[in-house]
Amino acid sequence: MRKKRITLLGSILCFIFHFSFSQGRRCAVESKTTDLLRNEQLQSLIEQNRLKTNRQTRTATEIITIPVVVHVIHSDRSGIIGGENNGNISDEQILSQIRVLNNDFRRIPNTLGFNDNPVGTDMEINFELARKTPDGLPTNGIIRVYNPKASYDVFDDIDLLSQLSYWDSERYLNIWVTTLTDNYIGYAEFPTGDFNGLDFDETNPRTDGVIIEHTVFGNRTGTASFGSYTYGRTLTHEVGHWFGLIHTWGDSFCGTDYCEDTPQVSGPNNTNACVARPSRCDGVSRIPMIENYLDYTPDSCMNTFTQSQKERIRAIIEISQRRNRLVKAAQLNFQPVTETTLSIINNPGTNSTLQIRVDLPDFQDFTVNLFSLSGVLITSKEYIDFPGALITAGELTQKKGIYIVQLQTDTNVLTKKIILF
Ligand SMILES: [Zn+2]
Repeated sequence: MRKKRITLLGSILCFIFHFSFSQGRRCAVESKTTDLLRNEQLQSLIEQNRLKTNRQTRTATEIITIPVVVHVIHSDRSGIIGGENNGNISDEQILSQIRVLNNDFRRIPNTLGFNDNPVGTDMEINFELARKTPDGLPTNGIIRVYNPKASYDVFDDIDLLSQLSYWDSERYLNIWVTTLTDNYIGYAEFPTGDFNGLDFDETNPRTDGVIIEHTVFGNRTGTASFGSYTYGRTLTHEVGHWFGLIHTWGDSFCGTDYCEDTPQVSGPNNTNACVARPSRCDGVSRIPMIENYLDYTPDSCMNTFTQSQKERIRAIIEISQRRNRLVKAAQLNFQPVTETTLSIINNPGTNSTLQIRVDLPDFQDFTVNLFSLSGVLITSKEYIDFPGALITAGELTQKKGIYIVQLQTDTNVLTKKIILF
């Protein structure tokens, strides 16, 4: 979570004192969920998976695309989009923000998201405004909802925001953009719920996402034109949390973020300056990585995610059921269906053109079997917790012939004949 710092400018005897402070409850919700993320069993599970995904280079380098829906919750009755102080912010402002998010997560050269830090990395995660609604209709990924309430509390109004607009959090990253009270500028929900069988208190999936104050949502444009937080980094920071990253100082004096390449520091850079002041922990003085997106640095100083933060996110995507499902669903990009179906595309076909498609009403375990006509099992492909599958025949066999494809779920067995030439 990030909160706007209140800056007092005073000039006494020709000196200008640039003085800032913040109020105490900035990360109250986070400290509850960081307790969860600090659970010892969970940490060791993340660590095991971090090592595993590192070895499996394919998973570790695969570029992930996350579909995003932006819910603009505003109190402007006029229906006018954009303009000064209008919480019903323009498409242009939203697009500028999505560009920053991608520049930062992809470390794009010639943008503010680039760094040449030896531990800095391309997170290989893209964000894309959704192109289909949950019902399969075309969309630009931006939903505008008028509600007379002028501002929202990040603690008390989360459910209300979700009631006003929400898309399935197993298929989209929900971003609510609105006017926040009490100087808060951003809030994110950590991954919660099921982690590979380790079951933690499930938070409401309908509030899973990120909430951002509209005056910091975007890159120097529209209502996010002036101030320290108008380069779009609040969203980058919060999406880092949404993937399970912890603040660089570990939310306590000389705490840990479980990432060995972010220096241990005593606390956040909670100033309006991009100056890294040495920080002392256990008698060792270190230069803080104030350019890390998980610090509290002003937007213009930030440009770094590290290799270790990337590995942590990759591990969490493997083991957090919610994040894992979202990534799998995004890869398939199928619409949810009401009935289990098995369909064959380009039949008859070759083992590179013929495809077998499985559509399921929800995430399930299932098996796709390939049998010879005489009933001999040739190949079997097992799927754990997938929303469907698209398989090229060559993944099941290289040989020409006539086969039976069988889909087996807990409640259904469906078969189709295929001809490979
Ligand atoms: Zn934070």
